[in-house]
Amino acid sequence: MTDAPSCDRISQRIAALRQTLPASVKLIAVTKQVPPAAMREAYAAGVRDFGESRVQEAEAKQAELTDLKDVTWHLIGHLQANKAQKALQLFQWIHSVDSLKLAQRLDRLAASLAQKPNVCLQVKLLPDPTKYGWSAAELIADLPELNQCQSLNIRGLMTIAPLGLTDDELLNLFKQTAQLAATIQNRHWNHIQMHELSMGMSADYPLAVQAGATMIRVGRSLFGDRPL
Ligand SMILES: *Cc1c(COP(=O)(O)O)cnc(C)c1O
Repeated sequence: MTDAPSCDRISQRIAALRQTLPASVKLIAVTKQVPPAAMREAYAAGVRDFGESRVQEAEAKQAELTDLKDVTWHLIGHLQANKAQKALQLFQWIHSVDSLKLAQRLDRLAASLAQKPNVCLQVKLLPDPTKYGWSAAELIADLPELNQCQSLNIRGLMTIAPLGLTDDELLNLFKQTAQLAATIQNRHWNHIQMHELSMGMSADYPLAVQAGATMIRVGRSLFGDRPL
């Protein structure tokens, strides 16, 4: 016997997690480094949203999972400019739009592909040199130009909490992110909607849900620890 999560355990974990979630919160199963067989188990347990960090890894897995027709693929990791076109071909959602430059590039590519991808704008409201994303002030300053990105379906904000925060600090951070989304929404931009909040991972999703997350991105709690 090993500690590796068996298929049964994956479906049990998914069912247990679902029970704690309000029905309005979308569970995105983060499957980076998770093999396709385990993804099939998650699918069998009802998961229809997969989150991947890397374009190439997602491309390889999608090729193995072509029979799973009704899956929505979410890119949650930093996107390099030279992979933007491939990302648009593989993902229906890009949560990790983290700069005006990337947004504008995706907008041009989406127009040329006649697509309208769903995107979240990645913010970091606490300084964190290890993370990408806009500060609140930077994002506010870029909104007029983001509003010109008419081939993007800007749906909300995404954030990743820094390591080492207390529960109170995490809850505060998530609430501030929700507040920023509300502030932006209240300005009624033509091409920016702020109804989605992609926040919360295995370690902190209950706090994110408490603060209003609409999409949580959970990997380890479902699939076990990833190899380093
Ligand atoms: C890996 C990752 C997750 C999932 O993290 P877990 O700790 O495995 O739940 C969520 N969001 C992003 C951006 C990630 O890179």
